[in-house]
Amino acid sequence: MAAITRRATRVSFVSSLARRYLSSELNSHAPPHNSAPFRVVPTRGDDQKNSHVRWVFLGCPGVGKGTYASRLSSLLRVPHIATGDLVREELASSGPLSSELSEIVKQGQLVSDEIIINLLSKRLAAGEAKGDLGFILDGFPRTIKQAEILEGVTDIDLVINLRLPENVLLEKCLGRRICNQCGGNFNVASIDIKADNGSPGIVMAPLLPPTDCITKLITRSDDTEAVVKERLRIYNELSRPVEEFYRNRGKLLEFNLPGGIPESWPKLLHALNLDDYEDKHSAAA
Ligand SMILES: [Zn+2]
Repeated sequence: MAAITRRATRVSFVSSLARRYLSSELNSHAPPHNSAPFRVVPTRGDDQKNSHVRWVFLGCPGVGKGTYASRLSSLLRVPHIATGDLVREELASSGPLSSELSEIVKQGQLVSDEIIINLLSKRLAAGEAKGDLGFILDGFPRTIKQAEILEGVTDIDLVINLRLPENVLLEKCLGRRICNQCGGNFNVASIDIKADNGSPGIVMAPLLPPTDCITKLITRSDDTEAVVKERLRIYNELSRPVEEFYRNRGKLLEFNLPGGIPESWPKLLHALNLDDYEDKHSAAA
């Protein structure tokens, strides 16, 4: 795939713009500018060499991008960076932004792009300094403005847009259950959409709880049809243009999920020209 094998055009993955956001302390630990560009270390299988991993995952809320981003990050040994986690970590720390952030959260306001990009730049520079081989971003950028700022911070190689039809997303979100005793996450939705008029069928098995949990299942208060539909509406309004932004730059990989993880994971790897060496190895053992 062209996007994965493209040569690095920048030596360092955090640009000078990003460095402006950084504290002097971080700068002093940053590697020299002649550090090697990202390459996936070819230790896992033959297909994984010569690839950069500066990837972004896009997709509607509920599509499962966190799951796939996290699986790919372990496979490729690069960090999975979710901006929500960066905010939570900063809040929990005594970092320079924690008091400002806790005020914002207390007042129920949105965290500004400037703060997010500041946290993200710091995270990328810290990762680069300790030799990370790249990153997978999840939950960022959400808007065109964020995509433009990110472009000034680092070169993104590939943007993977995970897609499911809206009726499937809705059913999946409405099927979510949490055990109020052990905190386990389950899904009672059983999706079986037949292939029709050229669109492929989609099968997603439910993720049922063990018997001990069955009587203790609760639904999150924001997993109602109205709330889920509103989340999807906001996503469509703000994030569809982000897909367009990356499509215009030839970086968007559209991936229609064919089902749950067992159906989707091998096909996603194939689309990315990757090989899950460990999966194959354990299957053969
Ligand atoms: Zn339980």
